[in-house]
Formats: sequence, structure tokens, C-alpha cells
Amino acid sequence: MPNELKSGLVIREMSGFFWVEAEDGNTYRCRLRGRLLEQAQISDVAAIGDRVQCMVIENDQTGDGIIESVAERDGVFARGARTEGARGAGEAVREAVMIANPDAAFIVTAAAQPAPDWAVIDRLLVIAEQANIEQITLVVNKIDVGGIAEAEATFGHYAAMGYHVAYVSARDGVGIDGLRERMTGRMSVFAGASGVGKSSLLNVIQPGSARSTKQVSNWNDEGMHTTRDSSLVKLDFGGYLADTPGMRNVVLFDIEPEELDGYFRDIRAYVGRCKFNDCMHNAEPGCAVRAAIKSGGINKGRWRSYRAIWDELNAALEVY
Ligand code: GDP
Ligand code: ZN
Repeated sequence: MPNELKSGLVIREMSGFFWVEAEDGNTYRCRLRGRLLEQAQISDVAAIGDRVQCMVIENDQTGDGIIESVAERDGVFARGARTEGARGAGEAVREAVMIANPDAAFIVTAAAQPAPDWAVIDRLLVIAEQANIEQITLVVNKIDVGGIAEAEATFGHYAAMGYHVAYVSARDGVGIDGLRERMTGRMSVFAGASGVGKSSLLNVIQPGSARSTKQVSNWNDEGMHTTRDSSLVKLDFGGYLADTPGMRNVVLFDIEPEELDGYFRDIRAYVGRCKFNDCMHNAEPGCAVRAAIKSGGINKGRWRSYRAIWDELNAALEVY
């Protein structure tokens, strides 16, 4: 059999290898063509979810073939990564792709135990908006702890701003079919803080799918790249699901402070009514966003998240 060029989907990445599920049904372990690596990169050349062309090589010494090209992405679910030189401060210098071409995002939180980490939730929602994902779901797990009424009181404002909010319990198997339905036929990503029940949910959505080593992490707390081991789970009912490591510190990439309000659905609805075009919704007179917080149209916690991220993005700009 001569060498053959095949189209496929990257379903796993580890230690410089990419596993490509080809249209012929086989999975090939590939490296990247050197010329792809040499291109100046502010993003990952290839990642899970990428559609690639690979040359399958007979009797290859180190794998099954070589990725020759990566198709243009529709979008990426990505966070910023800093380099050693910019530890803990400064602008994120490159894009760390968690999954390419996602069309559904599931941002997972617990209703309680642990208490919601609003900084993580709101940053992940910004990333999902930035990725232009059409179907974004906020998954509120562990509703068995405090009950659904309490959970609705805590998270109801996300439904009001247009997100689908799924109240579920991995322990009791509540709401799982609804999650499966929303994943069917899609390229989905699961993201959230650790301890919220992501692995437990994965295991009830598709038994045996959660990763065995939970500490596997692509990024440390400063958002720096460490070893990568990411994979797509092929769902029995159709579609793919990317699990991501539990996050504490979510670094955003390539967002200017003044465009941040566009990624907050609730705030975005009011910005056109502010007195000043360049309103930062902080202390400016005639701010429609501040007025909406008073009248109950915008949740104050969401505004706090917005301000915290704005300050962070602005401080990062000043370093450079
Ligand atoms: P991950 O870090 O997000 O993957 O979270 P895990 O799946 O490891 O779950 C963290 C802890 O929460 C474990 O002790 C689970 O047993 C527990 N847990 C997960 N889902 C539920 C749930 O629906 N209800 C309750 N009460 N506990 C849960
Ligand atoms: Zn304003």
C-alpha cells in the first residue's frame, strides 16, 4: 500500500502526537509536518477538534503518519497562556486551544458544595461567547444538595439573559437525558472549576468515559502550558465531547477591555443606552448599565465579574 493522504478529525493529543480519526474509520497516530511547527504561532497548530489532512506512511518509524495541513477553524474554545517571563501578570501571550470547532459549550458549576465560583463561571461564559458557540448551557449540578428552588434563585438570572440553564444531579441521575439531547450530533466542550462534578456527570452521560487520572492538566495556575493530554470522547448517541481540566484561574486571550461588554449578554443589552459611547459602566454619568443594576435588570454579581475582568485586561495592557 503506497502512502496515502487522508482527511480526519484530531481526537487526542499527547506529547507531540495527534491521533487522527480518519474517514476510513481507522485512527492514526501522527506528528505535525515540521513546516507547520516552524510558522510563527500565537496559537496551537493543531488541537482536538481540528480537521486535518494526514499522510499515512507505511512502516513509519515513530507513528502512523504526518499531519500535512490543518483546516481553517470555525472557532476555538481557548484560554490565554502566559510565558515564564510574564508570570502572574501581563497580557496572555498565546492562545491555548482547549478544543477547536466546538458547537456546544457546557459550563458546569455546583449549586452548592463547593459554592459557585462566579469568577470561573463568568470567564468561561466569556470564552464561549468569544468562540461564537451557538449553544451554550450552564449546567448546575448537585441540585440534590439544596433543592431546585434554591438553585433557581441562585442561577435564574442566567436563564433571563438567554442561556439555557440545566439543573441536574449526577448523583441522582436527574436531568441527564436533557444533557445528552443537547450534545447529540455536536462537538461539545465541558468546562468548570474542579469539584463541581464534571467527571461524575461524564460517567453518567456515558459510563466509562471520564479520565482515569484527574490531575492531568494542560495549564498550571498561571495559565502556563505544561504537558498536554486532551482527548475527545466519542458519544454512543452521536457527537463528541471534550473534557477539560478543572480550572481555578481562567486567563482570557485577545480581548480588549472596551469590547468586554459585548461578551456579557446581560450588559450588552444596555450599552447602547449609555450616555457616552465609550462608557466603561463604572462611574460615568448616564450609565444605563448602572441604572439597570439598581432596577434589577442586571445582576450585581455579573457586573462585579465584568469589572474584575475589565480591570485585569486593562492592567495587562499597561504592563506592555
Ligand atoms: P470534578 O472535579 O468536577 O470532576 O468533580 P467530581 O466528579 O470528582 O465530583 C466531586 C465530588 O462531588 C465527588 O465527591 C462527587 O461524589 C461529588 N458529586 C458529584 N456529583 C454530585 C451530585 O450530583 N450530588 C452530590 N451530592 N455530590 C456530587
Ligand atoms: Zn455604561
